[in-house]
Amino acid sequence: MEMPSREHRPDAGLREQLDQLAAAHRYRRRRVLDGPQQPRSRLDGRPMLSFCSNDYLGLANHPEVIRALQRGAEDWGVGSGAAHLVNGHSRAHHALEEELAAFTGRPRALLFSTGYMANLGIISALAGRGDKVLQDRLNHASLLDGAQLSRANLRRYPHADAAGLERLLDDSGARLIATDGVFSMDGDLAPLPELVPIARRAGAWLLVDDAHGLGVLGRGGRGSFDHFGLVPDDDCILMGTLGKAFGTFGAFVAGSEDLIETLIQRARSYVFTTASPPAVAEATRTSLAIAEREDWRRERLHALIARFRHGAEQLGLPIMASPTPIQPLMAGSEAQALAWSRALEEAGILVGAIRPPTVPEGTARLRITLSATHRDEDLDRLLDALGRLPASTPSTKDDHLD
Ligand code: PMP
Repeated sequence: MEMPSREHRPDAGLREQLDQLAAAHRYRRRRVLDGPQQPRSRLDGRPMLSFCSNDYLGLANHPEVIRALQRGAEDWGVGSGAAHLVNGHSRAHHALEEELAAFTGRPRALLFSTGYMANLGIISALAGRGDKVLQDRLNHASLLDGAQLSRANLRRYPHADAAGLERLLDDSGARLIATDGVFSMDGDLAPLPELVPIARRAGAWLLVDDAHGLGVLGRGGRGSFDHFGLVPDDDCILMGTLGKAFGTFGAFVAGSEDLIETLIQRARSYVFTTASPPAVAEATRTSLAIAEREDWRRERLHALIARFRHGAEQLGLPIMASPTPIQPLMAGSEAQALAWSRALEEAGILVGAIRPPTVPEGTARLRITLSATHRDEDLDRLLDALGRLPASTPSTKDDHLD
């Protein structure tokens, strides 16, 4: 059959855009790992020491967690088969929600399939056209996208700047204020002791995305609120992810009874998607229990953070003021970040080069992440390789992911 001729093909121009990304050193290529992500992995048959996963407590490969996943699959099958509101909400999901509520000290918790979806769902369920949503300038993309989806008026305040937030509040107030608890690319903490009273005075929700604080900070890994000795009230919403310190997959929201019921009714990214596999919920129940009881993992992690920072300071490396396992090394240009990442890869060390638009213009960096399962000698190898990084910026067109 003869196809009608077309003047404009839908994919015309894509190659040109991809070439432009490559020319700006922003092209991201996925690395194909042949082994677990951290700390010891394999890439193209070569053993690699990895410093780029968010498995901060080393639970993703824990034998008990793996066994819980296997047993969960035997008990529940693999897929959940339907959305939570249809037929996909199992006793395994329900028990995990109750345990997450108890862990966070909030009345209720609700599982979402991913953190990205949780943030979309929370913000679009609580804010709408005509509302004002205020967010830290360095918030995770999913918080910003949630505000876009809600059609609310999104304003961004300067990073971690409570006074800047107050200036934006002015007379009209706000419906919702959102912040990362620990900033995903900088590793620093939101000033929650200042943000909580500001939100309360403004009569606004305070949504804290503690994807990188839970498991790592606070007593038993209860996260950023607990780290600051804060007990959140019903106007505070906690979002946590399960694919980072807890080593599994998924996310949850913790808050008041009415908030959770509202999300069940109205959060479209909750209602219109298949529930995550119940076996993953079983694995998370096990990893949550281990994360809470094994304080040595947090102690080990914080000892490694101190050791890394001390070593990096001695070498005069451009580290940032981060007290968490996220330890960025500021490169500035995309080309510099890529050159460093490639030099480390040649030395058998995996560290991601993070570039705009993930971070602001001119702040490309290496994002080094530490895990309780790294050994002292792993850190020494990393520091030794960092000490040998090339200072100049070779110009190159092709390279990989962040
Ligand atoms: N919030 C923050 C701060 C994150 O770093 C991430 C993951 N990169 C998410 C939300 C999204 O979570 P998930 O990966 O479960 O979608």
